[in-house]
Amino acid sequence: MLVRRVDAPVLTLVVALLLASAGNVKFWSIFTHAAGGFSLANLPLLAGAFLIVVLFFNACLTMASFRYVAKPVLIALVLTASAASYFIAAYGIVIDKAMIQNVFETDAREATELISWNLAAKLGLLGVLPSLLIARADIRFPPGARGLLKRTGIAGGSLLLATLLLVLFFKSLAPALREHRELRFLLTPTNFIQAMHGYLRNRWSTGIVVAPLGRDAVKGRAWAGQHRKTLTVIVVGETARAASFSLNGYSRLTNPLLERQAGLINFSHVSSCGTATAISVPCVFSALGRDGYSQSKASSQEGLLDVLTHAGFAVVWRDNNSGCKGVCDRVKYEDVSRPTGHDSHCAGDECYDERLLEGLPELLRNSSRDLVVVLHQKGSHGPVYASRYPREFARFGPVCATNQFEKCTRESIQAAYDNTIVYTDYFLSKTIDLLRETAEGEGVDTAMLYFSDHGESLGENNVYLHGAPYFFAPREQTEVPMMLWMSEGFGERFHIDRRCLDERRNQPLSHDNIFHSVLGMLDVNTAVLNPRLDLFHSCIRAA
Ligand SMILES: [Zn+2]
Repeated sequence: MLVRRVDAPVLTLVVALLLASAGNVKFWSIFTHAAGGFSLANLPLLAGAFLIVVLFFNACLTMASFRYVAKPVLIALVLTASAASYFIAAYGIVIDKAMIQNVFETDAREATELISWNLAAKLGLLGVLPSLLIARADIRFPPGARGLLKRTGIAGGSLLLATLLLVLFFKSLAPALREHRELRFLLTPTNFIQAMHGYLRNRWSTGIVVAPLGRDAVKGRAWAGQHRKTLTVIVVGETARAASFSLNGYSRLTNPLLERQAGLINFSHVSSCGTATAISVPCVFSALGRDGYSQSKASSQEGLLDVLTHAGFAVVWRDNNSGCKGVCDRVKYEDVSRPTGHDSHCAGDECYDERLLEGLPELLRNSSRDLVVVLHQKGSHGPVYASRYPREFARFGPVCATNQFEKCTRESIQAAYDNTIVYTDYFLSKTIDLLRETAEGEGVDTAMLYFSDHGESLGENNVYLHGAPYFFAPREQTEVPMMLWMSEGFGERFHIDRRCLDERRNQPLSHDNIFHSVLGMLDVNTAVLNPRLDLFHSCIRAA
């Protein structure tokens, strides 16, 4: 054989290079396309991304670089990676949980149909041959405590360098990865490690049993002897950051309409539960709070919308986003995000948030019960902010209209983002107008509570988009807007002291307050309501 004696760090680096290159041909072809094609100008970005992957693999492999461990791990990785990359390239599949399930639950006949000479050749060249070389190699591991130190140094150094490169290329990498989420399932071998983990976790976990919550909920004293119906609208914003609202002091006038809305209470210091929709939305509608939240706990327990149902409300979730993340599983759900024909509020395959308001008065008229409607906005979802609003809302410009941030100035990215806030301002103001008309014209007590799920980075310290780990997430990603509007009748019915609420507008609040405040605002009595988190608790006048 060619090489018999080899130093462990050299072998690790060679395998990392092999996996990153030959094992990921399809990944790089899609990534190159996502990054704007292969060109001289793009070369630093492509080289940077390749280096990040190599360094990351090298760090991971170094941590397994011990006698008796290294060989089986490297061989298993090389073999599975060669097979996975063949199937990805040949069938255009992605490796995810469902695919692993397919592999395990497919019968032998189906499996043989997938086997071909091409597969054999690829497995032999990229899998078996390197495996034989590894198996026969005499690997020299750095010995003792110094060896341990050396491994730690290599792994740590690789990760550090990868992180530095990531920061350097973040502006270009983030939108490409966000727009092409499939890349996550194409990068071998992390895709099948992740998929395997997901598959086994599903396999071993027993079916989720949803525990009841607040079954004791009843409407309180403020409801006695009332004949007027109520309509409460909860608007869940998307990617709106507090810092870009002129209501919160932003220098650009992004809230021209809301600033003129009489009776609007704007809360200026609200922090989010997470930095991504998939965390914030289930968290905010759960009774767990940020400290107690986990995905599994939230999905195995009823939430705010269930408690409202127990208290006798009709609850509807209208969605112009990507679903309610399990929050609305047991209430009525309406998806308005897809165009159905000649929709005045859709352009191409994009529907603007105004569509959430279509038919809302009819919904109320047809409801025999008091109604709580959740409107889930598309809001300021990136990276193509310019697609989120109709043309007449392009107040600031020039705007960045592509997902390739490296082609845009920071100013043009911000301008496009600010226009999404101008449109949200219009949407919220229109919601309030509608609720005011309904209150006056139809004798209904109405209210609107708005908050965003998380914020957004727009180039501060060269960080873009959102989803940073919470403990070091920049403020721009965790500080969210929140506001409340109530019709006069609504405030009177529930004896809400507006001046008292006004005094709380600059207090530090968070998503943790929302579960309890919605119940408090609607005078719902239940043991799960924590008065200390209820914004209205000390602001209710004695009847
Ligand atoms: Zn979100």
